Amino acid sequence: MTVLMDEKLIFEIDREGREGYSIPQSDVVKVSPEEVLKELYRKEEIKSLPEVSEVDVVRHFTRLSTYNYAVDYGLYPLGSCTMKYNPKINEYVSRLEGLAYIHPLSDEDNIQGALEILYKLGEALKVITGMDGVTLQPAAGAQGEFTGMQLIRAYLNDRKDSRKIVLIPDSAHGTNPASAHLAGYSIEEIKSGDDGCVDIEYLEKRMNEDVAAVMLTVPNTLGIFEKNIKKICDIVHSKGGCVYIDGANLNALMGKTKPGEWGADVMHINLHKTFSTPHGGGGPGAGPVVCKSNLIPFLPKPVVVKEGERFRLNWNVPKSIGKVHAFFGNFLVCVRALAYIETMGAEGLTEATERAVINANYIRKKLEDVLDIPYKGRTLHEIIFSDKNFPNGVTTMDLAKRLIDYGFHPPTVYFPLIVHGAIMVEPTESEPKEELDRFTDAVKNILKEAEENPEVVKSAPRNSYRKRLDEVLAARNPKINYFG
Ligand SMILES: *Cc1c(COP(=O)(O)O)cnc(C)c1O
Repeated sequence: MTVLMDEKLIFEIDREGREGYSIPQSDVVKVSPEEVLKELYRKEEIKSLPEVSEVDVVRHFTRLSTYNYAVDYGLYPLGSCTMKYNPKINEYVSRLEGLAYIHPLSDEDNIQGALEILYKLGEALKVITGMDGVTLQPAAGAQGEFTGMQLIRAYLNDRKDSRKIVLIPDSAHGTNPASAHLAGYSIEEIKSGDDGCVDIEYLEKRMNEDVAAVMLTVPNTLGIFEKNIKKICDIVHSKGGCVYIDGANLNALMGKTKPGEWGADVMHINLHKTFSTPHGGGGPGAGPVVCKSNLIPFLPKPVVVKEGERFRLNWNVPKSIGKVHAFFGNFLVCVRALAYIETMGAEGLTEATERAVINANYIRKKLEDVLDIPYKGRTLHEIIFSDKNFPNGVTTMDLAKRLIDYGFHPPTVYFPLIVHGAIMVEPTESEPKEELDRFTDAVKNILKEAEENPEVVKSAPRNSYRKRLDEVLAARNPKINYFG
């Protein structure tokens, strides 16, 4: 086992003269490639390519593929990341030749089907969120936030209103302040109350004509629904500001409530979370933005429109903030999302929400006697524990690492920052009860180990490919180039 778990880089298994194939020399063509290609023929040999045989290559990549934890392997409970199982039919549809090989510069007449997919997905997202306009261009949640904040800025500028401040609660997702800052705003934090929700009295006092927007993650990173959301929207609107909703975790809301009905002006949606597109490892994803009618004139262009039975790309959007992605965004991610929405149907999507919430609350219930729950309010799709009462100096990091030995991907840890030693678990709706039980049993076992034999936990992971890494060194002194 240890040999296989220590696969070398492909450059290190290189042996001179090895080839990926061997076929007999042709006895038909008598001219050499050099004669045919003439000055195009490469003069110098390429030195840096590894010389490996077919079996070397196949084994190399097959072994590497087993070093990755995957949602197809087991529970992947990263909070706020929604690592749900992605039905394979969505993959199949996105690989259909007619979709996978479309050239993005094709003539509109030849890609009516693709435009219809984009149009239908946009309409579905509008219905799900209760909003009026949509763009599918942003490639990720954070880019959706940036796009949404640009929309707010363009809308306010158009009214000669140059507000400078965006208010963001301390329980928001970390990308929110970064995106608002990139869009040119100064950020001010709003403290959460003891119930994990926005302090309404504080907001009422702070809200004035300098504030462009309030950016809210709903449910927030404590997994708690912002119970005063309508009141918050009213307060912000009464002073002429906009409400931005971070809807990355729509699988806590979908089919149950619509941000457009609360009074939200703009929100983004993570297709790669809620709408079952594989993610992790950096992409690809999609972070569509939906908005109310007053912001539609500013949406990125081109906009997909339907005229009679035909679909067209409308470039004539004079107040548009411009493009935020090449062509139409990540098209095949949109295909997967529409396949998911259509195979689930409205009832299926609602049931997914219910199950996501039930699964998180099941874990909460099973662990509430052994782990501290800092915010007691009702939680939706994820549950946050703290490291209070951990015995023998065992930390959240130790627990997370030990879970690897039990065959699980660790949950999100040390986030949100307002919870000491936070452990954030989001099981998603696709997990069966048996897998949830395996997980909660593992956590309970680890806590018992922490009492009886803390060294086992502190030195975890013990059975993995790499042992405990020096994360500070990795961040301070990254060595990311083999040749460097
Ligand atoms: C994941 C997430 C984001 C960021 O999305 P990316 O696609 O990773 O950029 C933003 N907000 C919330 C609440 C999230 O869960």
